[in-house]
Amino acid sequence: MSDGLYVVVMLSVVLIVGITCVPSMFRQDCPECGARNPLDAKRCVACGKPLPRPDAR
Ligand SMILES: [Zn+2]
Repeated sequence: MSDGLYVVVMLSVVLIVGITCVPSMFRQDCPECGARNPLDAKRCVACGKPLPRPDAR
């Protein structure tokens, strides 16, 4: 019944969603084998194929 509790709950939800989503935003899936690679990886950590540059649009 307090606004403080509501704010704490909302912040918790945002925090959980952020922790869940942020790592995937900074990773890319290999088009060849589907392995997850860091965004700054130039080659797939699993199969070694060159990865497309994320900033090349
Ligand atoms: Zn791969």
